[in-house]
Amino acid sequence: MDKLALHGGKPVRDKLLPYGSQSIDDADIQAVVAALQSDYLTQGPKIAEFERAVAAAAGTEYAVAFCNGTAALHAACFAAGIGPGDEVITSPLTFAASSNCVLYVGGTPVFADVDANTYLLDLNEVEKKLTPRTKALIPVDFTGQPVHMQQYKTFCQQHGLILIQDAAHSLGGAYDGSPVGSIADMTMFSFHPVKPVTTGEGGVIVTHNRHYYERLMMFRTHGITRNADQFVHESEGPWYYEMQELGYNYRITDLQAALGLSQMHRLSAFIDKRNELASLYDKLLEPIEVEGWARLPRVREDARSGWHLYILELQLPRLNVGRRTVFEALRAENIGVNVHYKPVYQLPYYEKLGYTGGLCPVAEALYETFITLPLFPKMTEQDVQDVCTAVHKVLSSFAKNISIPS
Ligand SMILES: *Cc1c(COP(=O)(O)O)cnc(C)c1O
Repeated sequence: MDKLALHGGKPVRDKLLPYGSQSIDDADIQAVVAALQSDYLTQGPKIAEFERAVAAAAGTEYAVAFCNGTAALHAACFAAGIGPGDEVITSPLTFAASSNCVLYVGGTPVFADVDANTYLLDLNEVEKKLTPRTKALIPVDFTGQPVHMQQYKTFCQQHGLILIQDAAHSLGGAYDGSPVGSIADMTMFSFHPVKPVTTGEGGVIVTHNRHYYERLMMFRTHGITRNADQFVHESEGPWYYEMQELGYNYRITDLQAALGLSQMHRLSAFIDKRNELASLYDKLLEPIEVEGWARLPRVREDARSGWHLYILELQLPRLNVGRRTVFEALRAENIGVNVHYKPVYQLPYYEKLGYTGGLCPVAEALYETFITLPLFPKMTEQDVQDVCTAVHKVLSSFAKNISIPS
């Protein structure tokens, strides 16, 4: 059943504008068709070409592609040697995969609170959660804003931790001019359609470390190696391989890699466009911040954001209503708003494991106020204007002591 827009009027948009979407052009289509016509649908040359393009963008020596970002995170935890008894500290403001990967290898995720301004994992909070069992840190570049990578790296070196950056949102971003991926021990990129670049489903780990690279490659293909330098026994002939670890079939296909390679040519154009659209939001929504109805997202001066998500922090006491009411009113205007994310440890599976509310009060309070506006490279200026018109219409109608504009 259709919901009426506010005051029973016509919605700002006739059709729902989604919060995220891929951009596929003719070159992408041709690249996939060419892969289909080639000798390899999987385990062919497109995978290494795609990996080289991602490694070049991230400024690393190595890249290993996987069937999705979650599998890539699982592989990173395996390569890092995380196992039972090990604790890994991560952010609660993320998609569940950032901590599920720790559970996959038998480790224990530990959640530390975020900074109220950047929404990123707060190193002061991380410090409070350190124990002799802490083995790794998985910060998340939430919304596309990269963490201060060098600061995290130094922190990890001081405490003997492995740094695995969840950069699912921030491919193409940078901090202090260093591309995302270039500093952590391992960095994960996701290639889901709403992410900066897509392969349909896909994930990549980039690293400078040869040991991690070899472990990632092995994990992706059942724990099998065909590299004679790594053999435990003597080779029995050219067919010989060894399965040395319990890996998985986590391979990406050549069709996907061909799409990813073609998309990577437009990475900086995509990120430029996302930055332009975000700036336009900033400009058009400034009055809403001035009124005190919502706080706009901020990117630190030294950071270049991938702008995966544009999130408003609603100032609910000024609006008289809950986030859900604002959300439903914007959906009724056909604005495909979304919410990212309920703190992971408050999801039922984590509750079953014994995690309880109150662990990270800043993240919990932020979650109650967050609303994600549409942002993706195919959006036009008119689309952004429509979103802002709807946001103004909805917020002004709820705000205390503010008259409704006609
Ligand atoms: C999308 C996402 C992942 C997982 O990536 P998939 O490719 O969907 O498996 C992990 N972490 C974060 C923060 C994400 O947004």
